[in-house]
Amino acid sequence: MTTDAKKVRRISQIRNGTVIDHLNPHRVFEVVKILYIDDTTEETVTVGTNLQSKVIGKKGIIKISNRFLTQEEVNRLSVISPNATVSIIEEYEVKKKFKVKFPQEVRAILNCPNPNCVTSIEEIETRFKLVQESPILLFCTYCERYCRENEIEIL
Ligand SMILES: [Zn+2]
Repeated sequence: MTTDAKKVRRISQIRNGTVIDHLNPHRVFEVVKILYIDDTTEETVTVGTNLQSKVIGKKGIIKISNRFLTQEEVNRLSVISPNATVSIIEEYEVKKKFKVKFPQEVRAILNCPNPNCVTSIEEIETRFKLVQESPILLFCTYCERYCRENEIEIL
């Protein structure tokens, strides 16, 4: 590798932090939102979208320095962009890498699209069961309505 190429690689690499790769390119900025990345964020953040991927066609990627995701953030990520990969970087090395998976049960993350659902009326934690993974089909355990991915929204 030439010196220039090494320099370029170093800029795109992070020393410590998290790389979220293979994101659904249509949901990248939703992930940015749930991670509360905005103009007040002090850490170095790189957001890429519509990047070419051999595996999934187009993908998004988010790199955040000096930040590690909480379990709650991983849960939210897995609902917004199942199959994304999360890499934990320490001293430029991948310490841990895993693929997120749509959870079997989703609690308190999504809104029920049914306006008559008790969770839409009262302050009750929503709860959905995963019926089918591809395409995603969920079942609201309160109103017993089946919901497709495009009908559900993050709280
Ligand atoms: Zn419902």
